[in-house]
Amino acid sequence: MSEYEELYQEILLDHNKNPRNFGRLPLATCSAEGYNPLCGDHIKLYLTVENEVIADVRFEGSGCAISRASASMLGEAIKGKSKGEALALFATFRDLITTEEGGKSLSESELGDLIAFHGVRAYPVRIKCAVLAWHALQAALNGESVAVMTENSHDHHTLKVAK
Ligand code: ZN
Repeated sequence: MSEYEELYQEILLDHNKNPRNFGRLPLATCSAEGYNPLCGDHIKLYLTVENEVIADVRFEGSGCAISRASASMLGEAIKGKSKGEALALFATFRDLITTEEGGKSLSESELGDLIAFHGVRAYPVRIKCAVLAWHALQAALNGESVAVMTENSHDHHTLKVAK
């Protein structure tokens, strides 16, 4: 393991052990749930959005270390950002963990601790664990207070909602 990989591992384990923003948000303006049946991850995300800015975020649920660490870091990363900025960060994060180029073109400052997920790219099954909370974020911001579920195919999800 390289020095960097060890550091990334430590960041992930720390977020899993001491998840930031864990719990409910009584005054949440939107929320969404995410399920990853392949791994058994279940996350519910609560947001308080004020004037298009994410003022607060919490999550609860259970799942593997990757899904918990991802939800924990998501909260840290999006608090204080506008809805648009948060969704752009999701796209950046997805690039990081799904494409070879993504990891190279992104600066560490853009991603902060999220950079620790770059190794997930090598484990396709784990990618679903890592993006679960982000799919829930997207659903919550789009006003779909429903469950999202990761699908078998690479990097797709099903919105369980009748439109
Ligand atoms: Zn998982």
